[in-house]
Amino acid sequence: MPPKRRRLNERRKAGDEGEEQLEGTPTTQSRPHDELWFSDGSIVLATDVHLYRVHKSMLAKYSKVLRDLFEIPTGDAEMESWEGVPIVRMVGDSDGEVYMLLKALYGVNLQVPALHVLTLSEVTSLLSISSKYDCKVMRADVIQRLESIFPNNLEKMWAAKLLWESFLPSHAFELLAVAHRCEALLILPTLFYLCARFPLEKSIGAVQALPQDVQKNFLLGRDWLLECSHRLRGRFLQSTKIGGLNHVNQICRSPECLEKIRAQLSVKPFALIFDVPDRGVLVGLDMNQSEICGDCAKKHVNTIRNLKKLHWDELPVKFTSNSWEELRKKAISTATP
Ligand SMILES: [Zn+2]
Repeated sequence: MPPKRRRLNERRKAGDEGEEQLEGTPTTQSRPHDELWFSDGSIVLATDVHLYRVHKSMLAKYSKVLRDLFEIPTGDAEMESWEGVPIVRMVGDSDGEVYMLLKALYGVNLQVPALHVLTLSEVTSLLSISSKYDCKVMRADVIQRLESIFPNNLEKMWAAKLLWESFLPSHAFELLAVAHRCEALLILPTLFYLCARFPLEKSIGAVQALPQDVQKNFLLGRDWLLECSHRLRGRFLQSTKIGGLNHVNQICRSPECLEKIRAQLSVKPFALIFDVPDRGVLVGLDMNQSEICGDCAKKHVNTIRNLKKLHWDELPVKFTSNSWEELRKKAISTATP
């Protein structure tokens, strides 16, 4: 939805402060921004914190919504201005979001390596505001960056997980709400998964702050994840059936194998299914010393791989009611209206 213009003097309260104002200077708490203030700027964007004197043509080039907004004739002699330059108040945008938008347009090259250095919270701001003002190029770059952090492919997710360790629950859940609102569809399942990894005691406040439909999807999906993760672990306790078609249901001849695998469970902490390594409890074991036979080890690895793959396909369905393929199609149609 395009932002509404509001004159700064609408925010004045009678008798407030009573400071003497310079002629042509609006009464506002906001102050000119140190960096994003160009003396030849043709428009002043105002937030609750800062005034940004920038160029209409620059904004209009990258944002259809802002271009349309600037074209609306005001015909308003009382339009608030700063030294003759019209002021537009950015209603509903935080100062951080507006700053990120302008910084991305002016100071920072929009390529992925530049986005690479932004924090999760900054990327979230950029997703929100580039979607709102329909800055297509910026939004596409931001989404590309987010898809590298939250891949829709299990192997890539394993590598991306290293980045997740530094994310705070509050930032991850904030991104979840924004990604949902701004239809960054392809990152949703993996982002839901990241959010589900946080212990509830650390994330309960953030969960409660989610929009109601997202909250419901999150809680039901998290429940499913826990259940299938426990079921996978339960499989490690069962005797391993090995052998080909001629040996259906034949179990390992060595009773040691199962006991050794079970013993590993007590020293390997519980993890959600996609955090279980492909080698499962065998990770870090010296197979020559482990007394687990090669056939059982192979079966163990295959079971984990197959179950992970099966549940990875279910992940988007459980959290978003769409398959990966449906999300992909919807994401493409959102990007090219
Ligand atoms: Zn065995």
